Formats: sequence, C-alpha cells, structure tokens
Amino acid sequence: MAEPAGPATVRVAVDAPQHSGLAGPLDYASEQALAPGSLVRVPLGKRELLGIVWTSASEPTALTLRPVAAVFDALTPLGEDWCRLLDFAAGYYQRSVGELASAVLPPQLRELSPEQLAARLRKLEKKVAKVAAAPDPARPELAPEQARAVERITAQFGAAASKPLLLFGVTGSGKTEVYLRAAEAALAAGRQVLVLVPEINLTPQLEARFTERFAALLPEPLAIVSLHSALTPAQRLQNWLAAHLGRARLVLGTRLAVFASLPDLGLIVVDEEHDPSYKQQDGARYSARDLAVWRAHDRGIPVVLGSATPSLESWQHAESGRYERLTLATRIGGGALPRVRLFDMKALPPSPGVTTALTAPLLAALKERLERGEQSLVFLNRRGYAPVLHCGECQWKSDCPHCSAWRVFHKRDRTLRCHHCGFTERVPRACPNCGNHDIAPIGRGTERLEEQLAEALPGARVLRIDADSTKRKGELEAQLQAVHDGDVDILVGTQMITKGHDFRRIRFVAAVNPDGALFSSDFRAPERLFALLMQAGGRAGRDAAGAGPSEMWVQTWHRDHALYQALARHDYERFARDQLAERRSASLPPFAHLALLRAEARTAEAAKAFLDAAAGLLQDDGVLVYPPVPHAVARVADVERMQMLVEATQRARLQAFLRAWVPALITLKREHKAVLRWAVDVDPLAI
Ligand code: ADP
Ligand code: ZN
Ligand code: ZN
Repeated sequence: MAEPAGPATVRVAVDAPQHSGLAGPLDYASEQALAPGSLVRVPLGKRELLGIVWTSASEPTALTLRPVAAVFDALTPLGEDWCRLLDFAAGYYQRSVGELASAVLPPQLRELSPEQLAARLRKLEKKVAKVAAAPDPARPELAPEQARAVERITAQFGAAASKPLLLFGVTGSGKTEVYLRAAEAALAAGRQVLVLVPEINLTPQLEARFTERFAALLPEPLAIVSLHSALTPAQRLQNWLAAHLGRARLVLGTRLAVFASLPDLGLIVVDEEHDPSYKQQDGARYSARDLAVWRAHDRGIPVVLGSATPSLESWQHAESGRYERLTLATRIGGGALPRVRLFDMKALPPSPGVTTALTAPLLAALKERLERGEQSLVFLNRRGYAPVLHCGECQWKSDCPHCSAWRVFHKRDRTLRCHHCGFTERVPRACPNCGNHDIAPIGRGTERLEEQLAEALPGARVLRIDADSTKRKGELEAQLQAVHDGDVDILVGTQMITKGHDFRRIRFVAAVNPDGALFSSDFRAPERLFALLMQAGGRAGRDAAGAGPSEMWVQTWHRDHALYQALARHDYERFARDQLAERRSASLPPFAHLALLRAEARTAEAAKAFLDAAAGLLQDDGVLVYPPVPHAVARVADVERMQMLVEATQRARLQAFLRAWVPALITLKREHKAVLRWAVDVDPLAI
C-alpha cells in the first residue's frame, strides 16, 4: 500500500464511554499516515486507550488534534474484512465500533506497550516444531449421507454465491466427522478454519478429536489453537496473535472467537448452532452464530451450522430455501435412539407430603440398570438442595432481601444462597420470623436428588455434576473422567451434563421434573426444553454394543403435550412445524424481528419513566413499541429492572428505527439521572 509520507490526520476507533456522545471514530494527528486496521494508543481525556485506525485519512480540520501516542508497528494491521465485520456488528447491535473492538480483542492488548507486544511476537516466532511428525490418522469411511454432506460443503470452496449449510443430524449421526472432513479439505487448500462450540470447557473431547486428526497435517506448534475466556490473558493473546499471523490454521473457540482475525479464513463451522450461549448476554449483545453467517457471506466462504435440534430461525431459513439443508438421518453404527417413556405423574396414587421426583417406578428402573452394571443419568435443571426454605408456622420463606427471588438452600455448606446476587448466609437454626425450629426445604435441586438417590439405592455410586461441584479448576475434567472410566453408576446433574459429552456407557436417562418450561412466559422456553431433552436423550445408547434398548424416562404431569409427543417420536421436524405455526400466528420470531430496551434503576418508577419517555421519542408505523414491563426477576441486588419490547415485521425497518432511536436515547438518559444502566438488545434470546 502506498502511504504518503509526512504528517496526517487519522481516524481512530476508541472505546469512548457512551454518555460522552463520542460514538464514532475520533480524529488524531499522526506523524505518518497509518493503514486502516493499525493498532495504536491514543489519549482520550486524561486516559490513554487502545484504538484502531479506522479510515486512513479524513478531511482536513481547523482544530488542533491531539497526536497518536504510540503505534503498534510490529503488528500487521487488522484486515479489511475484519474491519468490515466489526463495522457491521457494531451497527447491527447498536454499539460503537470502539466499544465492540475493545470487548472482542484480547484484553492484554490494552495493557501492553508497542515494545512489549513486539517482544511477545518475537517469542512467538521462536516456537518451532521439535517433535517428529505424527503418524497419519485413521479416518473412518464416510457413510453415504456424510459423504454427500462433505461434498456439498467442499463444493462451495471457490464458488461464487453460496448458501449457509444447515447440517441437521441426530446425536451420534456423525456430524463431527463431517466437520473434520470439511476442515481437512479447507486446510489442504491452504485456508484457515474456524470452529465454534457453545462451551469449550464442556467439550474438551472435541478439541482432542481435532488435535488427534490434524496432528500429522499440522505439526507446527500453535497450528491448532483455542480461543475462549477460560484461557489466561497471556495464552489468549498468544493464540489470537497466532491466528492473526496465519500461523494458527485451525481455531476452536467459543462465541468470542467469531471475532478472531483470520486472514486466510476458508470455512466456518458452528456446532450446536441452536445453543443460547452463542448470544452474548451483556455489553455488545451479539449472536456469534448470526455473525458467523454474515462473515462467511462477506468472505464468500462456506459456513456449516450443525445441530440435532436447529434453532427455529435456522430451520425456517432451511424451509424457505435461504439455507441449504444437509440431513444425517441415522446414527452411525446403527445405534438406536433411546426409547422415550413419558411417565404420567397423574397415574401415581396420591400421597400428600411425599416427595415425588423419585417415583417408585423410576427407582425400580434405575435399580434394574444398576443390577445390569449399566450407567444412568438423572437430569434436573436446578442446583442446590432445595429452591426455598419454609416455615410451616408463620409461612416465612427464604427470600433474598436484595432480589425478587428465593434464596436456595445448599445443604453441604449449610448456606442460603441467592443465585441472582450471590447474597449468602448461614442457614438459620430457627425461623427468623417466629422462632419456630421446624423449618423445612420445599422442592428439590440436584444436591437433594443426589442424597435421595444414594439413600434409596444403597451401594450405588452416585456422582453429581453441576456448577457447584465443579467450581475449582480440573474438577469437571476429573468428574467426567470418572464417568468415562465406569467409576460412576448414576450421574446426577443440571444441563451441564446433557451437552455434547460422548458418554459411552450410559443407557438410561431420566428427566425428573421438566414441566416448568411448558408454561414459561418466554416464548422460546419450549424450544429450549425440546433441545435440552433431545440432547439429554442423546447421551443414552451412544454405544450400540450395549445389551438391550436404551431408554429415556420423562416424568410429566402433561403427557399429552405436543412437545412431549414429538419428543417420544424423536420428531424434531414435527415439533418445529408446530412451533413455527404458533410463532407465525402470534407474529413472533422468525416471523417478526425484536429488540428489547432494558433499563435499571433503584426504583421501578424511575426505570419505567425512562422507558415511557423513550417510547415517545420516535414514531414509525412499521415498528411497534410495547409498554414497559418488569423483568422476570424484577429486582436483583436492590436494582429494579424493566424492559420494553420493540417489534417490526421487517428487519431493515427495525434497524432503521434503532439507528435513529439510540442516539436520542443517549440524550434522553441525561434527563433521567435515576437510571443506572440501559441497553438495547437486538434479537434478544430471553424475554
Ligand atoms: P455427532 O457429532 O453427530 O454426535 P459424531 O461425529 O461424534 O456424531 O459420531 C458419533 C460416533 O461415530 C463417533 O464415535 C465417531 O467417531 C463415529 N463415526 C462417525 N462417522 C463414522 C463413520 N463414517 N464410520 C465409523 N464411525 C464413525
Ligand atoms: Zn416462622
Ligand atoms: Zn439476591
């Protein structure tokens, strides 16, 4: 690139606070012209911040500009495509480019000086291979459906216009093998590959599989790297740099990896594309899945979205022909999907006061599996011992003084803990209200289920895996290993254990209390429940060699519900059809486009006043603004949370509305001092 010598004005994207009103890139003076994408440090007020040169020069200005403080000249500028991605994402999710960049670049970049970064780069260069090349890995022969899927993906390499590919395959149908083959083809063509997974902590297996497969093809250190928030800051910077320099050929990561700088990117895979964790839940609330689709389209490369239970958005795109659907209908090795048994809770003889999660028939089924030496998994999406403590005398309940929520009873450390604000106290010996000694837990969480199972099935080795049992580093890995090694008979846990794990020995999966989501006010709750149960069921019978059929046991009070009926037949398509029909008639996504305006204040009135005023700022007859309502958990840590839904039938119309609205909101906020925080969430997942 020809760079004019001599002083220049450069435009720099920096993370200026929203209230400053400095949303766009700012002008600085520079001794030399700087290419767009160059990283710099610039003064802002009294601080010095990391910035990215955004466009090379702007119109001459009469103002005296502050000079750029430092240039990271050892680092190649970020590519044009990366800057386009950031521009798009910032615009779409209504944030400034500077804020988004600062959120998605490795945090250490903000702390290092150009000299320190140059030192890191030199260190990276010194990492060279010492090991002998690994042997060529064994590759299974592809099943016909797999072969066709790989063919359709690789046919898009170099093709002019191509559709996103939805790889729809039940658990165990060999989706991962398809990713591996497609990745291999892209790598062989000299391209980089990006594989996104919902939670890398839960999928070390996937990393191992990719590493094993590509150790021979990519023997250089840092040719395969991961990018996620559990890395140390130094590791994250190193891996990010490896990707940016083109040394890393395969990048495996969580949602933040969608922003990796990948100059030779040739293929993107989004595994479990329906997973809600692809949506960032604070700051710039982006969807990594949606941005992956955008990025692939922008670069003209294939993107593969894989799932056994696609998001209804993606499914609808496949139905309408915007996406190409690739179906893997059978499990590899002919392992049958588990038989689903919908256990009707209404059929039980009424027995007041007796806990019902562990019904006698369920215990009998578990016992039978135990006697056969088979593993079982019991799934309950609620951690702790019991969701609430209750005094039968005065009706006191263990509410949280700071939130509109109960505090959960954790028996192991005898605490009452609020899962929203973290407020924790020792369990009182007597009712704090009336002194009654007889306070009792109501309901059950995984801790209690674990205890009851151990009591009911003496001799069984019961292991619980949830956020509480895996707080310390390495605990999750150790616990999963125990399951794989067969040192566990019954695994109890939250949705943490339903995702992705390739448990070979489990032949029985039970969901003991899944009904709650059927009646949630969130229209996406059934979709999430269905995916969760299909995924939980998918843990059973992955190894066809086991004796007898594997089974999924679902305890419900609503046996005839369409969701369960579709589940019993493993019929995602039926479920999707029903749900989409409902969504269409109710004008909900994917047939409408939504944004949420959230506001937080010490009082609900203050939050509401801001939202009411916001609703009055702008009229558009293509956009519907609903009245403000409290959040599902209205108060958290003494802050009241209100939200307001904005709906449009056309995405472009909603976008145009938001573009005009957000700057007006920034101004409006200045008059509403009582509002602590506000945010716009585009395509919100939880409502
Ligand atoms: P999914 O990702 O759809 O759950 P996987 O790709 O993990 O499925 O495949 C399930 C199992 O089948 C894995 O153990 C995998 O190694 C094996 N497998 C996949 N494809 C084949 C194949 N073509 N031949 C033999 N085994 C295969
Ligand atoms: Zn009491
Ligand atoms: Zn609380």
